[in-house]
Parts: sequence; C-alpha cells; structure tokens
Amino acid sequence: MIITIDGPAATGKGTISARIAEKYKLAYFDTGMVYRAVGLQMLLNGDDLENQEAALKIAQNLTFPQMIELSKHEDFRSDAGSHAASVVSSYADVRKALLAMQQNFAKNPVFADGSPAQGVIYDGRDTGTVVCPDADVKIFIDASPEVRAQRRYKDYLTKGINADYNQVLAQMIERDKRDRTRSTAPLKPAEDAIILDNSHNTVEDDVAFVSALIDEKLNNKN
Ligand code: C5P
Repeated sequence: MIITIDGPAATGKGTISARIAEKYKLAYFDTGMVYRAVGLQMLLNGDDLENQEAALKIAQNLTFPQMIELSKHEDFRSDAGSHAASVVSSYADVRKALLAMQQNFAKNPVFADGSPAQGVIYDGRDTGTVVCPDADVKIFIDASPEVRAQRRYKDYLTKGINADYNQVLAQMIERDKRDRTRSTAPLKPAEDAIILDNSHNTVEDDVAFVSALIDEKLNNKN
C-alpha cells in the first residue's frame, strides 16, 4: 500500500502522516527532508544558495544515512534551513538527482528501526504527481495562507520562539509562490488526488477523513 499526502507548508501533513503511519503500520517518508538535507549542507559548506552546480553535487552524493544525520542539526528545520530547502528544491537537476532515493524507499520500505514495513506513506509536494504516480491513495491537503500562517505562528510561540505573525504570513506566501510556480514538479494536486481543505478541521477530523479513504481501498482489495 502506497499513500501520498501532498500540499503546501503548515497544512499538518507531517502530523497526519505520522498518525496514519502508526495506525496502519506503514513506513513514513517525509520527502521535504531530502531538500532540507541539501539546503543545510549548502549552508554548512558556506555555498551561495544560487550556486546550482554546488547544490547538484550535494544532491547527487546524498545518501539516506547522511540525510538522517543532517536532520539532527539545529538548522534542519530553522527558518534559514527552510529557506535554503525551498531555494534548492526549485532546481530541476537537483529534483531529478533526488528522485531515485525517494522512489527506492517504496521498493523496500522500512521503519525507523530498520525493520520491514508492508507499505509506505509519503508526504511532500510532488509525491502523488512525480515520486509515486501509481500510489493507491492520493490526498492533497490545503488551507488558506492565513490559517497556515496562524498555525506556524502558534507553533513558534509554543516553542518559545519570538515571531511576528505578518512576517510568518509573508514568508508563507513567498514559499507557496516558489513551490507553485517552479517549472519542475510545481505544487499541484495529482488529477486523481482527493482534495482536503482542512482550514476548519482538527487533526482528528483529518485522520478520520484519510482513514476512511484507506479503509475503502483496503476493502476493495480484499
Ligand atoms: O515539507 P517541508 O517544509 O519540510 O519541505 C521543505 C522544502 O522542500 C519546501 O520548501 C518544499 O518546497 C520542498 N519540497 C519539495 N518537494 C517535496 C517536498 C518538499 O519541493 N516533495
């Protein structure tokens, strides 16, 4: 069973995916990690983010264990790290270089402890369109930029990070624009994706919605 959950930032894809992965005993691949790993390595090397050749070299040499190691760095999910990931993810060659690593995971999915899983849930921007166009269930989650900025702003406050709502909203809109207008794999729902606007939902609502789709698929298979 392969499930893809795509959508813009701060739609709760990560939370929902983790819950679904646990419920259905699926391995989980947060595909934003591959771009965050390349972006962070650029920052650590002191590379100019506009240097596409440097980004490509890092992408071509990136291994799964290296990505996991980089994910432990404090800047992996910081604003600087998110910006770097967003920039490198707009490079077509970089995306191409990182595709096999993402696709191979579904051939041999494993849990974090290395034990084998029966299936995988991917979350990202293009997992239903490019990474796994043959996925069993495809979901595209969306919510208004204001709602998503509010969620991100609250996250920051909860973590004790000083933040300005208007700045968070501006960054959200800028990142959305880059994701939706890039020439390779722009953020958009797959033609056969189910759209979920979760602007007014709780996480429980979303998990119930996705579970119903998976259960229906499983019942049709049996
Ligand atoms: O989802 P997350 O915020 O961790 O993604 C980090 C960056 O990687 C985002 O800016 C997004 O543009 C990019 N990304 C992508 N394709 C994916 C997943 C993430 O371009 N499948």
